Amino acid sequence: MLYCVNGELVPASEATVSVQDRGFKYGDAVFETLRAYDGQPFEWDRHVARLHRSCELLGFEPGYSDEFLHSKTLETLAANDLSEAYIRLSVTRGIHSGKLSPPSDPEQTLVIIVSELPRGGTEGHPVWDGPASVEIVDTARVADDAIPAAAKTHNYLNGILARCESGADETVMTDANGRLSEGATSNLIFSRDGRLHTPTLDGPVLPGITRAVVKELAAQLGIEIEVGSYTPADLRAADGACLTNTTWEIRPIEKVDGTHLGNCEQIEALRTAFDEYVESTHYDSPDS
Ligand code: PMP
Repeated sequence: MLYCVNGELVPASEATVSVQDRGFKYGDAVFETLRAYDGQPFEWDRHVARLHRSCELLGFEPGYSDEFLHSKTLETLAANDLSEAYIRLSVTRGIHSGKLSPPSDPEQTLVIIVSELPRGGTEGHPVWDGPASVEIVDTARVADDAIPAAAKTHNYLNGILARCESGADETVMTDANGRLSEGATSNLIFSRDGRLHTPTLDGPVLPGITRAVVKELAAQLGIEIEVGSYTPADLRAADGACLTNTTWEIRPIEKVDGTHLGNCEQIEALRTAFDEYVESTHYDSPDS
């Protein structure tokens, strides 16, 4: 494999960053996980907008233009002959020895890693083996006023500790007030009494791009997804539920804390709509 480090393609075994890099030392870095379908990143504009927002929340500007990031992403995919892929694009605040306070003019580090994934769309296969078993853990989601949840940073200790607490496929965290927030790497949608619900972004919840796309597709189908503040009891009593993220897309949940949930027709309809959206935006030829 070839990875991109500071704009240069290098063999994966030689792709390294400095031990003085703030991304390594402090998690002082932002990243995006993207998915390429048929050679093109899905929802590029939204991912790049979230990258900008993450940088802004950390108090720096990305040192690379959007065009540069896009062309380097495509170049990295092409160099590895990949069209169906996972992409991780990271920008760190760069090399800086000694001080915790960030430098005013950091020379940032850019890393783009890719790996193969199955095809998406209506002819595709999910990356997951089956519906998810989920546990609601005691590890609380870090408060938004401590580390803004909208910043997708290299510091994933909160999610790692949640995953250490439980070996379930995904661990769902609550905020300090016991309200449902999100999974360690996914957003949550559940159904109760025929209505879909998702925790509000007013809480410590990453604004997931899949969540946003799913909400738009739901609106087109006339399915309402209510945004609100919920408790673990709401999820445990759900008729059905799913997790959303870029690689999983929409992954149904079969169990919460050991209790089986049913199949939810509305979630199945959203899965079909998502696949059709990917198919039409990435695989259908323009004149078909
Ligand atoms: N929440 C967290 C904490 C995540 O790490 C992710 C994965 N990026 C998500 C939600 C889902 O976001 P997206 O749909 O943009 O992948």
